Amino acid sequence: MQWSPTMRRILIRNADLVITMEPQLGDGVLGLIPGGDVCLEDDRIAAVGQGLDGSGACIIEATGKLVLPGFVDVHNHLWQALIRGCGTSMAVGAWLQTCVLPVDRLNVTAEEAYAVVRLSTLDVLSTGVTTVVDWSHAFSPDFVRGNVQALLDSGLRFAFAYRGRVERLEDMRALKRDLIDPNPRASLQIGGVNPTMAEEVRHTLRRMTALADEMHVKLHVHLLEAADNRQEEPLRALDLAGALGPMLIGAHAVHLTDDDIVLLARRGVRLTHCPLSNMRLASGIMRLGSIHAQGLRVGLGLDGGTNDTSDMFNTMRAAVGLQRAVTCNPAVYPTVADALRLATLGGAEVLDMAHQIGSLAPGKQADIIIVNPQTLNFAPRFDDVSQVVFNAQPSNVEWVFVEGRVLKERGQLVGVDAETVIADARRVARRVHPALRR
Ligand SMILES: [Zn+2]
Repeated sequence: MQWSPTMRRILIRNADLVITMEPQLGDGVLGLIPGGDVCLEDDRIAAVGQGLDGSGACIIEATGKLVLPGFVDVHNHLWQALIRGCGTSMAVGAWLQTCVLPVDRLNVTAEEAYAVVRLSTLDVLSTGVTTVVDWSHAFSPDFVRGNVQALLDSGLRFAFAYRGRVERLEDMRALKRDLIDPNPRASLQIGGVNPTMAEEVRHTLRRMTALADEMHVKLHVHLLEAADNRQEEPLRALDLAGALGPMLIGAHAVHLTDDDIVLLARRGVRLTHCPLSNMRLASGIMRLGSIHAQGLRVGLGLDGGTNDTSDMFNTMRAAVGLQRAVTCNPAVYPTVADALRLATLGGAEVLDMAHQIGSLAPGKQADIIIVNPQTLNFAPRFDDVSQVVFNAQPSNVEWVFVEGRVLKERGQLVGVDAETVIADARRVARRVHPALRR
């Protein structure tokens, strides 16, 4: 049976390589299956292997193609498509002052937030991201509604990290109850303030930690992104707030000492690595090898407007390349296989979702991408796994499935009029950009 979007049983057949990320399902640490099939039933993966029975299934021929789990982007700010190209010669502090904080005064409406987040959701889907953590500055309750509606409409699996403020506690509870909990693809996180020892900040951190505990959700803070954050003693502030534990996600974590790494590992804190953002904002290079050696859970993040292109392949390349450049050692962590793991199962582990997503295993959610390597930027093929990391681009991603639904089909986003999406986002940019140039 040929492919049709209404079928609930789909067989992706005879791929040149299925990269399951499950060692027990195939060869090596990535669980590789040459000539492999993946069978989907409704929202789940029913079977993975060779020569699966396709009777009654709609067939997608994957000869010549590579099949992978969808990418898990553990740190992004989707609204920041609005400020692409802003402050491109600035470090993180000046960039925040120039490009991010002024937006708070501009009363971005729900419709405007929707338009820019809509654009970003399609951009991340195009690169093969199937789960995104959207750390939103949540400028107003209206902004939040537009932001979340765009996420819901995208078909992506997502965690919405609502930047916490004491005066918004009720709105955060209401959002979770009304828009997040009814949707199995959605979850909430609390976006914490940048941790410092200032009394007001510590008060907010305590309240946000308590709220995250009450709702059993993650607290997600920017942590030691810039060198001068060290004098603010963020780890001490988080510890005093009771936040240093497995429910904490620390974004960036560039400027950690050996003692910090040991402490974070002992407490089970999760980290995000955003190499393209760290490069653009002159933040430094995360000590990924030392962090990995201590067993910390780490995932990769695209990180919004500081990463002017949503490209998970480029992010993997940068994660590999920065550590090689700083150590002059081509065998250093992360290897190519490690980078693929960071971008998939590693991210799922950061979110405590590895039982649902991050690999191609029977029973897991059908979040899958099919990559076409027969292109000018990828062919000729020598080593498919290495070339996924070193050669692939978003344009190689031909199919994207999230919970078994096709969101990208034969290279085209399903049901999307890109010109309209771009025009809508550009209208918002035209209103907002003059205020950022002052
Ligand atoms: Zn960030």
